[in-house]
Amino acid sequence: MFRNSYLYSVLFLKCPRCREGNLLERHPYHLSNFNKVKQKCSQCNLKYAIEPSFFTGSMYVSYAVGVAIAVTVYVLTLIMNLKLGPTAILISITITLFILTPYIGAVSKSIWAHFFLKYDKSLVQKHKSKSNDSGA
Ligand SMILES: [Zn+2]
Repeated sequence: MFRNSYLYSVLFLKCPRCREGNLLERHPYHLSNFNKVKQKCSQCNLKYAIEPSFFTGSMYVSYAVGVAIAVTVYVLTLIMNLKLGPTAILISITITLFILTPYIGAVSKSIWAHFFLKYDKSLVQKHKSKSNDSGA
């Protein structure tokens, strides 16, 4: 139920069309293959890069995600009543962004792909009935 939701698909870096195949070649923290998007979906065969340099636009998304995380860290320091000075808040935001950089890049590509490539529910049902046939 939750596994086929839009949010799950975006956050867990799934294919925007079938929400089953992985968007990336490897885990975002596998740094030698840093956020490399697969050519095609392993489940539904969707070509991810619908035009050359398609994922370049995800840089705009990563900026927005980075700002959202920075604001979240700032608000968390206020909620937890840490009474940090501006320098300490800046350092905590910088450390958080540095640690999350691989995931921010990956989730930005996922958001970008999900914005332009639409979910196809019929494809998932077709795929499930096919796997049920082979299992019987
Ligand atoms: Zn797919």
